[in-house]
Amino acid sequence: MEMTGLQIFKYLPGGKKESTANCKKCGCPTCMAFALKLAKQNIEIDKCPYISDELQEKYSHGIKHPQKTVTIGNLKIGGENVLYRHEKTFINKTTLAVILDCNAPDFNQNLKQISDFEIKGVNGPIRVDLVILKNAKSNMNFDIQTITYDEFIKLELDIIEDKDFQKTKDYLITTRTKAIIEKDENYSKPTSVVFNIKSEEQLFETCAKASYYICKYANMLVFNKFDEAMFSTLLTLRENIFTDPQKPLQVESGLYEFNNPNKDSIVFLTSNFALTFFAVANELENLDIPSYLIVIPADGMSVLTAWSAEKFTANIVSKTLQNLDIKNKLNTRKIIIPGLLEHIIDELKEASPDFDFITGTNEASAISDFVKNYTA
Ligand code: SF4
Repeated sequence: MEMTGLQIFKYLPGGKKESTANCKKCGCPTCMAFALKLAKQNIEIDKCPYISDELQEKYSHGIKHPQKTVTIGNLKIGGENVLYRHEKTFINKTTLAVILDCNAPDFNQNLKQISDFEIKGVNGPIRVDLVILKNAKSNMNFDIQTITYDEFIKLELDIIEDKDFQKTKDYLITTRTKAIIEKDENYSKPTSVVFNIKSEEQLFETCAKASYYICKYANMLVFNKFDEAMFSTLLTLRENIFTDPQKPLQVESGLYEFNNPNKDSIVFLTSNFALTFFAVANELENLDIPSYLIVIPADGMSVLTAWSAEKFTANIVSKTLQNLDIKNKLNTRKIIIPGLLEHIIDELKEASPDFDFITGTNEASAISDFVKNYTA
């Protein structure tokens, strides 16, 4: 079992009331702060020079990874530590792969369909992870991650052919439970379920089964057929299961463009909380004028939460405008801020004197009406 912060603390100088207690050499203000961080694996144990052999051994045993990680290029499969995402987080998304036979008459067509396929994700396009090639020739180059079938079957994976839903489901649950709870090394290989779809009619059933296996507990799913609707469904489900409950969904800070803006186009500003960003971006996309959106790095918090946590301050806005070089990139000097931040407009003007800040709307849905009455 992993150690809690309190259990760790008892072994530290702070817990043992020694003279070196709270010395701060680890970079934490107290031994308790270090213990809490260590319990979450947010700091290396050797940052504290006073770790006893006993603590080292107990801690190492606790964090021993119950499931191995298999690596293919930049893909990582397995390496999970928990049964339920809310216990901590899932580590590596279920890999979705397709097997193609290079000798099949429709090989090029299928490969192109897979390579061209993508769905929109919070942090960029999401694509099929891997193509497994049967009868691959040595001089083939692809625009997508590939391995040969021979390489695939030699990986340290527990490969299961999906024949009977109940059997596969029970096996996946048993395997993961034995690996995580009992730390049984016989079950430490990541699991890969291989589907053999024989007809179009089987796609619905396959999609339903694969959805279940993504939730519990396949590390990889391999299909002998690519279908856009099925992959869109499975990838969307996967993106929702494999979010880290400790991290809010966020987009990259930056200058986003809508409808081919020029240097004089209207400029909006908001936080990098994904839901806020997409609500605003959706409105800007649907305006019949070009625009920019400046996104502030606010730790993925919504506008007011970020402001109250001091993650959306006049200084952070000023730094972001400088980092993005807005002064030189755009002629526009008026920046429309979320209506909820009207109370910091004077601070914004003081911190960024090159710009004028205009109070916008509280809700993204009101942007189109706002723009009708707005003069740049
Ligand atoms: Fe405590 Fe950190 Fe000093 Fe270790 S290094 S004794 S954990 S304050």
